[in-house]
Amino acid sequence: MKNIHYKSAQFRFYAELNDFLPLAKKQRSFDYIYAGPLKLQEAILSIGVPLSEIDLILVNSKSVNLDYSLKGGENISVYPVFESLDISSMTALRPQPLRDTRFILDAHLGKLARYLRMVGFDTLYKNDFEDAVIVQRSQAENRIILTRDKALLRSPKIRHGYYVRSIHPKPQLIEVIRKFDLISQLRPFSRCIACNHPIEKVSKTLIFERVPHDTFQQFHDFFVCKQCDKVYWEGSHYERMQQFIRSLKI
Ligand SMILES: [Zn+2]
Repeated sequence: MKNIHYKSAQFRFYAELNDFLPLAKKQRSFDYIYAGPLKLQEAILSIGVPLSEIDLILVNSKSVNLDYSLKGGENISVYPVFESLDISSMTALRPQPLRDTRFILDAHLGKLARYLRMVGFDTLYKNDFEDAVIVQRSQAENRIILTRDKALLRSPKIRHGYYVRSIHPKPQLIEVIRKFDLISQLRPFSRCIACNHPIEKVSKTLIFERVPHDTFQQFHDFFVCKQCDKVYWEGSHYERMQQFIRSLKI
């Protein structure tokens, strides 16, 4: 009988990457035992940390990429996205940030989807999206996956994904805006909250029969979603959105 030859490497995950680890592995170094050839990305996924959350990996103090083949005996440090430390001379793992920030959300984040649309972000959401569809559309349309399901992010195909830590919709929106540094990209009142399609300004005469008489008298700027036909106007809707954005205090 052939003996299986086991090898081990020592891992340490830093900062918020610990959110994905069981208690015994949080905030400390631990041994990872394996047999046979193994790439770093396979080891990290099997530990439970999504690749899309990682920005830098050091093996024995040298930066490596996810294709690195483990040899045994390494000391491995894994870091999330750095906010302030300059790592430009090292191998940053994440692809360049997406210039046009678009999202696809899992079934549990309906309210966050509406908030993201309210501040202008192209956000796909359906309460019956299957995981495979989310992953596929994220790749095909360069969308960042937002999810409360850690398991969803374990697919090695995902490069732009984020596990939302907050439980409630408003803190979730604040978290996402901060995480992806979106404050300068907010475009309130540009997108249909119901269906995600951009809204367009229409002549007042065209919506005469579609809004309450008082509203028609009082306001001048009307917008319509050409996909679902919902009408918006720069009155109560607009003011409510502005108030909401001010209340975020980002
Ligand atoms: Zn619409």
